[in-house]
Formats: sequence, C-alpha cells, structure tokens
Amino acid sequence: MNAMNFTEPEERGALRAAVAELGKKYGHEYYAKQARAGLKTDELWAEAGRLGYLGVNLPEEYGGGGAGIADLAAVLEELAAAGCPLLLMVVSPAICGTVISRFGTDEQKKRWLPGIADGSGRMVFAITEPDAGSNSHKITTTAKRDGDGWVLSGRKVYISGVDEADAVLVVGRTEDTKTGKLKPALFTVPTDAPGFEYQQIEMDIVSPEKQFGLFLDDVHLPADALVGEEDAAIAQLFAGLNPERIMGASFSLGIARYALGKAVSYANERKVWGAPIGTHQGLAHPLAEIKIELELAKLMTQKAASLYDSGDDFGAGESANMAKYAAAEVAIRAVDQAVQTHGGNGLASEYGLGTLVTAVRLGRIAPVSREMVLNFVGQHSLGLPRSY
Ligand SMILES: Cc1cc2nc3c(=O)[nH]c(=O)nc-3n(C[C@H](O)[C@H](O)[C@H](O)COP(=O)(O)OP(=O)(O)OC[C@H]3O[C@@H](n4cnc5c(N)ncnc54)[C@H](O)[C@@H]3O)c2cc1C
Repeated sequence: MNAMNFTEPEERGALRAAVAELGKKYGHEYYAKQARAGLKTDELWAEAGRLGYLGVNLPEEYGGGGAGIADLAAVLEELAAAGCPLLLMVVSPAICGTVISRFGTDEQKKRWLPGIADGSGRMVFAITEPDAGSNSHKITTTAKRDGDGWVLSGRKVYISGVDEADAVLVVGRTEDTKTGKLKPALFTVPTDAPGFEYQQIEMDIVSPEKQFGLFLDDVHLPADALVGEEDAAIAQLFAGLNPERIMGASFSLGIARYALGKAVSYANERKVWGAPIGTHQGLAHPLAEIKIELELAKLMTQKAASLYDSGDDFGAGESANMAKYAAAEVAIRAVDQAVQTHGGNGLASEYGLGTLVTAVRLGRIAPVSREMVLNFVGQHSLGLPRSY
C-alpha cells in the first residue's frame, strides 16, 4: 500500500522560496504605501508575471508554466505571507485563466492567456449582482442574440479590479430557445466596450485593488465573446469557482502567516515585566492555537488543490469549501491576536497590522460567505435537509 505523501514536490518548494524572495523585496510597507496613495502594485505584478509566477497554472503553449492550481496557490500564499496579498491573482489567472484554458477556443486562448500569464493583461470576474448576491440562481444579467453576436444588459456589484482590467468575464444568462428558461453563460466583455460603465464603491479596506459596480446597457459583443458551450456553462462555472475558493484560502493563509510571524517576533522581543511578553501563556497559547489551525487549514487547501489538479472537480468542491472556511477563520484570528500581542503598537501604521483587519474579514464574506459554506457542508457532507 502506498503511503500518503504530505511533502510538497521539490519544484514547489523551490517555487515557494523564489516567490518568498520576491515578496520580501517589496514587502507590506510597499503594499500599504501604494494602497494608501491610491496606487496599484504594478511593479510587483509585472515582475511576478515576468518571472512566470502569475501564469504558472496556465498551459505552456499559451505562455504559462504548465503546472497546476496548487502551484498558483503557493505563489499567492507566499506573496501574502510577505505582506503582499495580491487579490487579483484570485480572479485573473485563477478563475479567468482556468475557464478560458479549459473551455475557450484556440482563438480565445491565443487572445487572452499570454497576457494573463505574463501579467501584461488582466481579466477580472463578475458574478455578484445587487439583487442576487449569494443566490447566483437569481442573476438577471441577460444576453440576447444579435445576428451572430450578443447584446448583454444587467448590473453587477463588488467587482474587483475593473479599473485595471482589459476585460471582465461576466456571468450572464441566455434564453433557452426550446423552454424559454434562462441558463448561465460566460462572456468576455472588454472594459472599453460602448455601454459598459463602472463606478467605484468606497470600501474600508486598505488595498490597492478597488471594488466597482458595473452597468451593462445593451453592450454589443461578437459571437466569440461567449466562452465555452452555451449549454454547459454551469459545469464551466464550477470549474472556475473551485480555483477561486482554493485561491481565497491561500490569500487568507498567507496573511495569517504574515500576522503570526509578526506576533511571534514581537512576543519574543518586547519586555514589560522583565521577561519577553511571549512568556505569558495568555499570549503564547493563542499563538500556538493559531499555528495549529493554520497548519490544518493549509493541509485542507493542499488537498483541495491536489484533487482539483487531478481532475476530481466534485471531491475538490467539498475540500475547497472547507479550506476557504478554515483559512478565513484562522486569518481573522491571527490578525486579531497579532494586534493584541502588539498592544497599542498593533494599531499604529508603522507596525503594518491594522491594514489587514478588514482585509481578512473579506475572507469570511467572499468569494462565498461563511454561511453558504456551512450550508454546503450541512447539506452535502452531512446529508442534512437544505435550509433555503
Ligand atoms: C472586497 C470584495 C471583493 C469582491 N470581489 C468580487 C468579484 O471580483 N467578483 C464578484 O463577482 N463578486 C465579488 N465580491 C462579492 C462577494 O462574492 C459577495 O459579497 C458574497 O458572495 C456575498 O454576497 P452578498 O454581498 O450579496 O451578500 P448576501 O447574499 O446579501 O448575504 C448577506 C448575508 O446573509 C447571509 N446569507 C445569505 N443567504 C443565506 C442562506 N441561505 N443561509 C444563511 N445565510 C445566508 C450571507 O452569508 C451574508 O452573511 C466581492 C466582495 C467584496 C466585499
């Protein structure tokens, strides 16, 4: 019988080490400074793209690294652990890159993937709507046939990074010609298309990536804006949503590692009663608990990524949900405890922790909320009745 292997492949270890070096070169100070000045982290994004990190999961023939989502997740985790959680990695290479690689035509792959892979192009992702939210069956953004092409109308909300994207992968619906029912379909919409407008939503998150409301008012799209089959969009959507959850987990895990690292260093140095404050179990035990929860969440994230990369979309779904949940919860706890460990310094800008208090709360809300994950586990993992 084969033993289960809990060691990452050597190449991934080397990738982590190289990405960690890049993250250290920029660091949280750079990230927070850019965010506070209303600027992006373009230099870091471009360098990560040039070094092949952003497209590590995309096919080699379109400029990617030919590896899997486990490797892309390792890249995001390491950058976040260095204090640079690049939110757009969740959408551009992970969701959009995956969906186009798996379901796009050769033409679509040639057009979009090389830019996504080398960082020169960005594609963001829009599913959330003001009146649908967690219930994506209720989305109303609709595409109507227009000769060979499409006309798309609707509204989206809380869409990350639209101002820095070339295009948005929009989840809309088309009408089934036989039944008249609406079914989901995915469209690439260039951000400069006539009829496409966006408006920034002010958020209390210190982040270089901004959030937007989208207004699609009779946006005319060519036939090849439709990605994949009109009839199989649910399956295609799920193919992109598992990587989204795995990357959401990695985003949280990296921030948890960053916060825990800072808390431990400070607890070892700061003395107010003669001995380092880490001597007090009131501070040491919560940090030890966070370390345990972090390792557990990381293991589940690795399991989800491994199942996804082996082609088990169904098995990956359960683990990806659990990983996203566990990683978000430990990240919230880690940042909170790191602030507490630092006393007053925990909220001083110089110590680089207060910036992350709302960033980690995002992990409990998006890409899928804590409650919707618990609904999934209750129903699918435990066999409880559906509650909604
Ligand atoms: C910073 C940020 C970035 C984002 N980026 C993107 C993006 O790039 N693209 C995109 O498409 N979306 C994005 N989102 C949207 C995000 O995915 C949604 O906010 C999230 O899915 C929750 O939807 P909602 O905000 O409409 O909340 P609602 O669906 O209104 O839910 C409100 C509350 O009710 C709870 N709830 C709802 N239904 C149930 C139920 N059946 N049982 C129990 N509890 C329930 C929820 O868990 C939540 O706590 C982003 C959000 C934020 C905050």
